[in-house]
Amino acid sequence: MTQSVGVIGLGAMGMGMARSLSAAGFSVAAYDLSAEAMARAAETGIVTHETPAAVIAASDAIVLSLPLASHVEATVEAGLAAGAFSEPKIIIDTSTSEAAVSRRLATRLADLGHGFLDAPVSGGPQGAASGALSVMLGGDEQWVARAQPVLDAIAAKVIHVGPSGAGNIAKLVNNMLVACHMLTTAEGLRLAEASGLPAEDAMRVINSATGRSALSEIHFPNWVLSGSFDSGFSAGLMRKDVRLALELAQESGCAMPVSELVASLWSEENSGVSDNQDFMLLGRVEAGTKEK
Ligand code: NAD
Repeated sequence: MTQSVGVIGLGAMGMGMARSLSAAGFSVAAYDLSAEAMARAAETGIVTHETPAAVIAASDAIVLSLPLASHVEATVEAGLAAGAFSEPKIIIDTSTSEAAVSRRLATRLADLGHGFLDAPVSGGPQGAASGALSVMLGGDEQWVARAQPVLDAIAAKVIHVGPSGAGNIAKLVNNMLVACHMLTTAEGLRLAEASGLPAEDAMRVINSATGRSALSEIHFPNWVLSGSFDSGFSAGLMRKDVRLALELAQESGCAMPVSELVASLWSEENSGVSDNQDFMLLGRVEAGTKEK
């Protein structure tokens, strides 16, 4: 069984996963570009290293939680260049990344006797902190079995979707739906308010009827109607997901007119929401709810 787990990327998601792994009894080594994130991890007994390659060298399994596919690729390549892959290792990439990059890395590492799973997650920072994420896996069965103890520590649900890249495709489809549900829910609430029905009353009905979604049941009550706008997921990362879904659509020859409209409404220029603000502020664009 995997005993030592590395975590590279200690942001809203990675920090919670590192702590869940530590609480499950793994010895956790970690790295982040941010000295502040490293210091916070060290406070809870996580061993921090000076480079990502040192984390890879010290670990049997390595969880990545990085913003972009390019960061994932550079991290793995840096580990290979530094000779950190001396024994068989498995990389569990929980970043929302690109199927083509996942396939490329899985092939490259398989040739050297290592595993790579695309393992994007759903459940937000709250799910990461409580070890209750949903994980969508792409990769070979043998590596899925090897990763299971690590996945058990961070997830309540693990779905092996298919071969390498399938996890990221499923995640992008999911988040494209989140984006669309967000705008349609906001638009529905705006219609209710404009017609004299308070948003909270409309929401009570929607959540007992067929218009409900995770957005109406969780996101809007907690982070939009409350005026808090602090879900822990940045607008920049959500825009990335929409962009990647549209790129995937283009590669697959699939028309996505609604998603294209979402991307346009959500541009910084049209929404007035910057990349580092919380993505729930994008719900305000249409809903006209409380200003922060
Ligand atoms: P975040 O911006 O909070 O954290 C990213 C962390 O990675 C930061 O601490 C940053 O310093 C670090 N980092 C950036 N480049 C690095 C590098 N090259 N090496 C090491 N560290 C580096 O992001 P997040 O919200 O934790 O998201 C992480 C990933 O999970 C993203 O791919 C995102 O799309 C995905 N995701 C996020 C959520 C969410 O609700 N926040 C939910 C599901 C999936």
